[in-house]
Amino acid sequence: MPPKQRKIAIMGYRFVGKSSLSIQFVEGQFVDSYDPTIENTFTKSTRVNSQDYELKLVDTAGQDEYSIFPTQYSMDIHGYVLVYSITSAKSFEIVQIIYDKLLDITGKLHVPIVLVGNKTDLYVDRMITTDQGKRLANSWNAAFLETSAKQNESVADIFHTLLKEIEKANGNVQEK
Ligand code: GDP
Ligand code: MG
Repeated sequence: MPPKQRKIAIMGYRFVGKSSLSIQFVEGQFVDSYDPTIENTFTKSTRVNSQDYELKLVDTAGQDEYSIFPTQYSMDIHGYVLVYSITSAKSFEIVQIIYDKLLDITGKLHVPIVLVGNKTDLYVDRMITTDQGKRLANSWNAAFLETSAKQNESVADIFHTLLKEIEKANGNVQEK
């Protein structure tokens, strides 16, 4: 089967690790200081359930409560990674604001989403419990993961899970 082309956007408050997760997945390394204002698109080939994918990751520069949802992120995007940091209550609020705007602008009832609580290695500074994350994702009917870009914990899972969510939304039955 030819590879499927999928484009996904990574959104969330600044400093939560959007770029670190992207670079960890695409290049397999943790970059400590990455220009936070850069918006970048990465390409990566990956395989899920015997299907090859040509993945385009749009690593957005970040959003806050005042951001207007950019229309370029509502068109030709198949799914979204919404990232907060488990050490930041503010970033957890921001993903909820982004979610509301996302549904509003796409006009859809369901959008493939993976909610990600990043920076699990900083557990001493944890502000958001795993349960809070899970409950939010459930209320959205979205998938949920906690990750550490620094320790490369569950990073590839984000993208594989999202690809499965996108298949589900397309009505394709998947084995686990
Ligand atoms: P972005 O603004 O969301 O793209 O965030 P960055 O990827 O630029 O990361 C912001 C800061 O958090 C940087 O100093 C990163 O090194 C750090 N960071 C990102 N992910 C992790 C993580 O999983 N653990 C720890 N300890 N630091 C992280
Ligand atoms: Mg960034």
